[in-house]
Amino acid sequence: MTFIEQNTARTHAPAEINPEEVRSALGGEILAPGDAGYEEAARIWNGVYDGARPAVVIRCSRPADVTAALSFASSHNLEIAVRGGAHSIAGFSTGDGVAVIDLSPMNEVHVDPAARRATVGGGAVWADVDRATQAHGLATTGGLVSSTGVAGFTLGGGIGWLMRRHGLACDNLLAAEVVTADGRLIRTSESENPELLWGLRGGGGNFGIVTQFEFALHPVGPMVYAGPIFYPPEADIPLLRAFREWAPDASEDITALLNLTTAPPLPVIPKAWHGRKVTALLATSAGPIEEGEGHVERFRAVAEPVADLLGPMPYAAIQTLVDPLWERGVLAYFKATNLARLDDRLIDRLHELHLRAPGPQCEIHVHQMGGAVARVNETATAFAEPAMPYVLNAVTAWRDPGVGKAHREWARAVIQAASDASTGRTYVNFLGDANAARTAYGAETYRRLVALKERYDPTNVFRRNQNVDPRAARGSGAER
Ligand SMILES: Cc1cc2nc3c(=O)[nH]c(=O)nc-3n(C[C@H](O)[C@H](O)[C@H](O)COP(=O)(O)OP(=O)(O)OC[C@H]3O[C@@H](n4cnc5c(N)ncnc54)[C@H](O)[C@@H]3O)c2cc1C
Repeated sequence: MTFIEQNTARTHAPAEINPEEVRSALGGEILAPGDAGYEEAARIWNGVYDGARPAVVIRCSRPADVTAALSFASSHNLEIAVRGGAHSIAGFSTGDGVAVIDLSPMNEVHVDPAARRATVGGGAVWADVDRATQAHGLATTGGLVSSTGVAGFTLGGGIGWLMRRHGLACDNLLAAEVVTADGRLIRTSESENPELLWGLRGGGGNFGIVTQFEFALHPVGPMVYAGPIFYPPEADIPLLRAFREWAPDASEDITALLNLTTAPPLPVIPKAWHGRKVTALLATSAGPIEEGEGHVERFRAVAEPVADLLGPMPYAAIQTLVDPLWERGVLAYFKATNLARLDDRLIDRLHELHLRAPGPQCEIHVHQMGGAVARVNETATAFAEPAMPYVLNAVTAWRDPGVGKAHREWARAVIQAASDASTGRTYVNFLGDANAARTAYGAETYRRLVALKERYDPTNVFRRNQNVDPRAARGSGAER
């Protein structure tokens, strides 16, 4: 069976689709407009895309379902939207008239504690992985919000609390099983189809549908030294400066993030501060718990905290700490850039932008990179720029649709403020805008991604992603 003739896929009016054609071939379920559960199945985490009307949502329980779903979409000329944990900020995993291939039923996790490996279904979320691996005192780098999908997160890179000790999620990806655009189920590892593994480590969902991931695991927890310290907003500038001096030589055990934000109404924060601007240092040490305090002690001297919650806590708790603040259905937009440096001018601008953030969920994240992330050779994975020292992410969420424009403009202003300090590249998973692949990856990586795309998906069946478009590259002649 071949599906790659589908180079002119279009969307269909729902009435043209007969789900019965695929129902009999599926172990999972297929939902079309009018079916019970369709409305919920059409939605993803980002409520901005709540109005999307997919032609069908095909829930897959096994690789054969994924192949059947691809075949069905191909024979109906339907554009495909692949869904793991549904956390695409740019809305890739739903859309009008598309066939959503939803892997969420494929969320099983098997841990081999002796080999320190886990196999993870293509629709698992980080909560599934953390639960299964922590039962053995093991973990791998996962997301800061536990409902985030393993698939999209890992394929784009995967920034998490363990990364400076153990690498990005994609650095821990040892092997994968993938359904390709022409319907084959293939395995990739360092020894089988290794170039595909290279592309899956940061190149996004461009090359196929991953039905199973295999990750390296590491001893972590159950207790770690982790959590936030909240400071008044006047501490923005001294904290960012202290962070800049500390970050490059900090122990690789620790991964930290400065978050210029607004105090959430949590009982652990003094009530008088609820709803006021604060700066939070968030950190996790993957090393011995008794060494944690020493890693961060200089931050305790920078300013008087509003609340200091950084201390011993279960790894499982830091992995779910901010979940309640990022509920499914909020309207959201993120914009990011890789930073070459945190200079005084940028620090001053970030402070100003913090003070005029238009809503309580407008956050400026400065991620400390380096450590094990930076030790990965630039050509070893498709992840853009492992050696960058910081990632800047402007994260916004809101509930009143009337304030969306102001939130988006603010996020863009944050990233614009960093244009001089930016490396010019971007972490693709932190983007609310589509069509960013070409600039996000460096020229050499992009050329290699295009070559891989030519090999595995020459007609761009998988294009609802930060797309590596082989035809556009051919058109420009730039990437061949
Ligand atoms: C609340 C929130 C918190 C986040 N926190 C972090 C964080 O801490 N660190 C970080 O690095 N990123 C973070 N992100 C960004 C996140 O990594 C991306 O949004 C990622 O794409 C989500 O993956 P998903 O599987 O949930 O998404 P989905 O919407 O399901 O999929 C997104 C895209 O991934 C691809 N894809 C999904 N499943 C598969 C599959 N099985 N096979 C092939 N391709 C697939 C497809 O191209 C799809 O369009 C966060 C996002 C949100 C919304």
